[in-house]
Amino acid sequence: MTRLFGSLVLLLAFAGSLLAQGSPAWTEPFPPFRVIGNVYYVGSRGLASYLITTSGGDILINSSLESSVPLVRESVEKLGFHFNDVKVLLISHAHWDHCAGSALVKQLTGANYMVMDADVPEIEAGGQGNFRYGDTPGTFYKPTKVDRVLHDGDEVKLGDTMLVAHLTPGHTKGCTTWTMKVTEDGKTYDVVIVGSPNVNPGYTLVNNAAYPQIADDYERMFRVLKSLPCDIFLGAHGGYFGLEEKYPLWKEHGVEAFVDPDGYKKYIAEREQAFRSELSKQKLAAK
Ligand SMILES: [Zn+2]
Repeated sequence: MTRLFGSLVLLLAFAGSLLAQGSPAWTEPFPPFRVIGNVYYVGSRGLASYLITTSGGDILINSSLESSVPLVRESVEKLGFHFNDVKVLLISHAHWDHCAGSALVKQLTGANYMVMDADVPEIEAGGQGNFRYGDTPGTFYKPTKVDRVLHDGDEVKLGDTMLVAHLTPGHTKGCTTWTMKVTEDGKTYDVVIVGSPNVNPGYTLVNNAAYPQIADDYERMFRVLKSLPCDIFLGAHGGYFGLEEKYPLWKEHGVEAFVDPDGYKKYIAEREQAFRSELSKQKLAAK
């Protein structure tokens, strides 16, 4: 019994360190490119970051890992822009793989860090207090001061560009989906950058004392995502929207490669199904 317990502890410790390291794709460079209009992909193969250039400076979405920051900076410069022009820093949600580099980005650029209200306490505590990873030190990061607290529906305006912050909670309490309108060749497109619709391994959806309303929040998130008009489907990880499959098409056909309203609807429906089956499983086990 003791030996079994010992191996279990070891296994959990291993899982914890694996989790903190994440997938090898997280740190693998990816060619930066212009997705559409003033929206550029500047992330790695596994962690999506976006640069949105405006007449008043630039917006960066997702600082990613601390070690991602030099990669993101290189991508920005390869595109011919200056990292110093980043005036506003946004994130998809308060998990280390999207926000651990924020302190460094702020230090390097002086950008204003804007975060959805319910994610702010964790960001300012460096990941401590997270309902799932609060006891996993490998997921902690430098506590980072938030300069503007966002609320559902808030607009982030810079120069000639405006993004809307949609609260899409569940994956984190303040998980945020960003939308904006982009014009290209006289056509206007709705861009959606999905925060995360995923139920991670170890998430408790029933009787979760640390997040009692978690299941209701997931329901709300799916309602919101289904209500958003979407032409250009993007998200916090390239895997959500098929970055690696679409990028070769982009090389041939340009922006049309990322116009994918049906792919968006299919992805959300599939993720909702996954949430529902996990919820029924947990409800059954709780009886
Ligand atoms: Zn996450």
